[in-house]
Amino acid sequence: MTVRPAVSDDPARPDAAPMALALDEAKAAAARGEVPVGAVLVHEGRIIARAGNRTRELADPTAHAEMMVIRQAAAALGSERLGRCDLYVTLEPCPMCAAAISFARIRRLYFGSSDAKGGAVESGVRLYASPTCHHAPEVYGGMREAEATALLKAFFKERREP
Ligand code: ZN
Repeated sequence: MTVRPAVSDDPARPDAAPMALALDEAKAAAARGEVPVGAVLVHEGRIIARAGNRTRELADPTAHAEMMVIRQAAAALGSERLGRCDLYVTLEPCPMCAAAISFARIRRLYFGSSDAKGGAVESGVRLYASPTCHHAPEVYGGMREAEATALLKAFFKERREP
């Protein structure tokens, strides 16, 4: 059996599979009544964690999709350092998740929608440009952006118009 890496190692041409799975996780989160954000973590070409937001279900304000996959991956690898890992998430990470990504030493961050109101990568505090940030991942935004944005818009529209 040949094992094909799930992702290309060329950062400019990532494989579509992890972001497609992250979008599935975002849809599943919406179905649970959670804000539709999904994340997938890839280690050396293999998907080792996937999750959507679970803040309501777990009554845990830190249960963002990115935090969930970082916890799963760190447990799976038995290490708090995830230096050979790439994180795919449907929305630009918030300050908490951007910091966790830095602490985990994640290699690359791919995200879908930009989040001018709550993001911390290219919006708001721009954490990775801060002199107190000791590890910044390579960042690639705008991946499947239209679909990720459409999911969020539909979710919040539905909540405004019950
Ligand atoms: Zn977050």
